[in-house]
Amino acid sequence: MSYDHFFADAVDALRRERRYRTFAEIERNAERFPRATWHSPGGPREIVVWCSNDYLGMGSHPAVVEAMRETALLRGAGAGGTRNISGNSHEIVMLERELADLHGKEAGLVFTSGYVSNATGISTIVRLIPECVVISDELNHNSMIEGVRQGGRQKAIFRHNDLGHLEELLQAAGDRPKLIVFESVYSMDGDIAPMAEICDLAERYGAMTYLDEVHAVGMYGPRGGGVAERDGVMHRIDVIEGTLGKAFGVVGGYITGKQVVMDAVRSYAPGFIFTTALPPAIAAAATASIRHLKLSGQERDGQRRQVAKVKAALAAAGLPQMETPTHIVPVMVGDAKACKAASDVLLAEHNIYIQPINYPTVPRGTERLRITPTPFHDDKLIAHLAGALNDVWTRLDLPRVRATGGER
Ligand code: PMP
Repeated sequence: MSYDHFFADAVDALRRERRYRTFAEIERNAERFPRATWHSPGGPREIVVWCSNDYLGMGSHPAVVEAMRETALLRGAGAGGTRNISGNSHEIVMLERELADLHGKEAGLVFTSGYVSNATGISTIVRLIPECVVISDELNHNSMIEGVRQGGRQKAIFRHNDLGHLEELLQAAGDRPKLIVFESVYSMDGDIAPMAEICDLAERYGAMTYLDEVHAVGMYGPRGGGVAERDGVMHRIDVIEGTLGKAFGVVGGYITGKQVVMDAVRSYAPGFIFTTALPPAIAAAATASIRHLKLSGQERDGQRRQVAKVKAALAAAGLPQMETPTHIVPVMVGDAKACKAASDVLLAEHNIYIQPINYPTVPRGTERLRITPTPFHDDKLIAHLAGALNDVWTRLDLPRVRATGGER
């Protein structure tokens, strides 16, 4: 029996809505980051990647690549098992210590991705707290929503970064245990949660806090501990979650917190127990990256400078960027088809790769190009980007805002 038509129909539905996704096939060039080779229909071509979450280029950093290479030569390619059954390498234990130290916590726990750390971390935590009400920001990432859903507890969703609404929901939960789930830097709008105020409310109403710092670790705070470190509230947050796959440039996810909480999650989370551990080479590379960014502010400073230049160049060209206090630069298109077309022209004619961001990643009508400058996008590349966007906006007749007199 073939059920192929179900799959074909499902894909067709996406095509009709112009949400069918295609991904550019690229070979990253570690020596010339952020350049890559694109396998275009007409053959290989050099492009510049402007939408990478390797925010600081650490995936190509010599210390990180060397740690991975050396460890792979010594320990082999894989982990050889789950953490429980022979996969608990020295390297992964060292990584967890490094992460606990990064966030000023007693312990850390590593997962195969940030997605898994949220999905299995949140669901396990709330399952271990009887009668827990989960209070979650409406713009939380899918992995957190999945964690809340799998936890199976009562949930309450507060309007994005709305402290008044959060307080109402905390009040409504009464004496029951409560977990507030939120992010520091929101990945698509690039805004930041009012961290200190959320901590105040959590303390006032006796709620536990779970913070996703996926888009902030490595990049904010004097040691790259995230926005909580920068804002001096790290010690007020119960569980801090992060990824090793974005600013740290490798792959994997983690949570950090009190020893007793980490021990319980380690013991009960299916997404931790029943899966092969990260290989030692990955763990060693991640540790090298974290250690480097704890001591070096050079990458963070460089990124901040280039982000400011990109924002100024786009403003000068009258391109409709969403203003953000972070490294994320969303340029609004507001239509799925136009967004895809803009991305296609940028790639095909300007050798610039910016993946279109469409529903359901963002609400319909807010489709955008999400630009993420790194310290390695130099002034020449920025000028090229601004010129190319300007051309695409003219050619596709996309909406603009009034140009500022800012520098280009
Ligand atoms: N949390 C947030 C806010 C994210 O944006 C993402 C991934 N884009 C994740 C978690 C998942 O992290 P990872 O990519 O390491 O699975």
